[in-house]
Amino acid sequence: MLYEGKAIQLSVTEGTAELVFDYKDESVNKFDRVTLDELRAAADVLKTTDGVTGLVVSSGKDVFIVGADITEFGAMFEEGDDQILTWLADANAIFNDIEDLPYPSVTAINGTALGGGFEMCLATDYRVMSTSASIGLPETRLGIIPGFGGTVRLPRLIGADNAIEWIAGAKTAKPDEALKNHAVDAVVAPEDLSAAAHDLIGRAKSGEFDWEARRAQKKGPLTLTMMEAMMAFTTAKGFIASKAKGFPAPVQAVKTIERAASKDRDGALKDEHKGFLKVAKTTVADALIGLFLNDQFLKKKVKGHKKIAHKVEHAAVLGAGIMGGGIAYQSAYKGTPILMKDIRQEAIELGLSEANKLLTKRVDRGRMTAAKMGQALARIRPTMSYGDFKEVDIVVEAIVENIKIKKIVLAEVEEHVHENTVLASNTSSISITLLAEALSRPENFCGMHFFNPVSRMPLVEVIRGEKSSDETIATTVSYAAAMGKTPIVVNDCPGFLVNRILFPYFAGFQALLNDGGDFVKIDKVMEKFGWPMGPAYLLDVVGMDTAHHVGEVLADGYPDRMGTDVRTSLDVMYEAERFGQKNNRGYYQYAPDKKGRPKKSADPEVPAMLASVQAKGARDVTDEEIIDRLMIPLIIETVRCLEDDIVETAAEADMGLIMGIGFPLFRGGALKYADTLGLAAICEKADTYAHLGKLYEPTQRMRDMAASGAKFYG
Ligand code: NAD
Repeated sequence: MLYEGKAIQLSVTEGTAELVFDYKDESVNKFDRVTLDELRAAADVLKTTDGVTGLVVSSGKDVFIVGADITEFGAMFEEGDDQILTWLADANAIFNDIEDLPYPSVTAINGTALGGGFEMCLATDYRVMSTSASIGLPETRLGIIPGFGGTVRLPRLIGADNAIEWIAGAKTAKPDEALKNHAVDAVVAPEDLSAAAHDLIGRAKSGEFDWEARRAQKKGPLTLTMMEAMMAFTTAKGFIASKAKGFPAPVQAVKTIERAASKDRDGALKDEHKGFLKVAKTTVADALIGLFLNDQFLKKKVKGHKKIAHKVEHAAVLGAGIMGGGIAYQSAYKGTPILMKDIRQEAIELGLSEANKLLTKRVDRGRMTAAKMGQALARIRPTMSYGDFKEVDIVVEAIVENIKIKKIVLAEVEEHVHENTVLASNTSSISITLLAEALSRPENFCGMHFFNPVSRMPLVEVIRGEKSSDETIATTVSYAAAMGKTPIVVNDCPGFLVNRILFPYFAGFQALLNDGGDFVKIDKVMEKFGWPMGPAYLLDVVGMDTAHHVGEVLADGYPDRMGTDVRTSLDVMYEAERFGQKNNRGYYQYAPDKKGRPKKSADPEVPAMLASVQAKGARDVTDEEIIDRLMIPLIIETVRCLEDDIVETAAEADMGLIMGIGFPLFRGGALKYADTLGLAAICEKADTYAHLGKLYEPTQRMRDMAASGAKFYG
């Protein structure tokens, strides 16, 4: 053994050195400080060891290297610019030293090699990839750009156009694409990988392959004709900028590649460091890195629940409507057989045909084989009776939103299931604790709130009623995860987590309209802020009847801040039966586009209708006022949910908003956004709107945090 560390082992056999990443006591390899320090030491050993004529880099784990240790980013990026630049220069010196060894080198990529992991592979002369591996530089997804030479070596290896696509698009490439783009030199079966890598190094050593020429290509400037350069960079920047609204990293990556195009490796790396520094300290990188960590945290929580969850081998759904049909599809598609019960044959047929449509789409797009589709469909068993309910481990109730009917049906189904079967209601507005009153085993009952459309919306709120047991919650969480969804556990309250926070935002919107605001402008400003759709458009999508109903539930639940007797534009729309997209008329009017999707346009009837709620007429409202008046109530309500113990952590609250209502990703969620603005600034702004009522009144804890400079994260 030439070197043995915690993460890296280095040995030599017959002149070929083998550097193995195999992090002891860890499930994966990652580039943390320990690994980088050890790679430094191993590179030094290689530089000073005589008799070595070739290097093979490999991994002892299932993955190659998953990437940098993202938990280290926060503290590191808070350091001064000079420290970050020194860290980058030191890390790159290691990769350069490996690249500059006086003999050929190859990486055997056995599994996931992302970010720094793939940059390690790029430092060697050759790459052999297993058919089960994947490679890529997904840094822009975290709001940063590659920092270990990725923007330098990848374009020199696969061409600027491909590299831009890979880096700006945060692509993870499978073997066929990797080979086609020449990012790797060969793809082989996993069991042949080591032999293939050693064979390649043998041929390079013998002079059969010109490894020095390969290396020179990576270390020199980009070879591009001017025309190609114009095409690759100019069009890419425009295209990427339009696609990545609010995300500066993809454009920064292209600029960095462009700026360094005429330089050799060492000059180009300096540009990469500068580009990295520019994005690493942005609030966007901070938010996106935070989201990655939140996501890891949620996954860990699910794992914890799985320990006490009952197995769900068979599920059932009551109701084959919009939600029930979607739930049946999702369960079947992800592998859990499900009984779908309705009281109407037409509903069952509609539910089945919806599942069929969704699966056919997957097959048409090449994402599923026809055989797999058949198996998935066979997992949905339609029924109009409780005949087979004894076998099921969980029943999701998704029938009409009526407390009386739900209570009757839940009590009825309880008679037909096993005593351990979990019952979960998909109600969007009825108290779980109240519904549980109908049951003789209320501990087996909780809420399981999916979002519409079920197949596309990632969030499921799992609602703990007063009597729900831990096993019930855990089983529901595990089932949601098995369906490919992200469950977040919340305590029972009117609106649960997501609607409770969304409606104060709508209330802010309604009040601003009454105060003379123009809904088209408000939509534009909020979309520019980062929402996928502005509030008027969103209300059209949600449906005015649904919004009106949920609004009433929330007004009853929180009369001091959500109850109002002022007539709003939502009342006007609702009364005029302008229900939104579902009947093609709401704030906007809708007509099908070429693909049959509803396309919105201005409706000439609407301005006069809205004038009836604008006592003082229309007025020009600044962008800042729009953002503040809508976002402050949303932030304050999120804080209240945390204080009232509706949600356990800031991370879960923020993830709920991102997945449930499309909160702007690059702002990281309401509480992260609050941290970015600073609690003092928020309280100060909120106070200027105190006349608008309690929705704008910060909580005492917010004021305390403002005074002490505290944050929700860190
Ligand atoms: P829907 O009207 O499309 O479907 C309800 C189905 O339940 C109908 O097919 C009806 O025949 C069936 N049904 C009625 N009584 C039944 C019974 N006793 N046994 C079996 N089936 C019965 O309604 P939906 O939009 O799917 O909503 C269902 C539930 O999901 C409601 O509680 C709703 O609040 C909630 N929810 C809806 C949405 C949404 O956007 N639609 C989102 C989240 C939650």
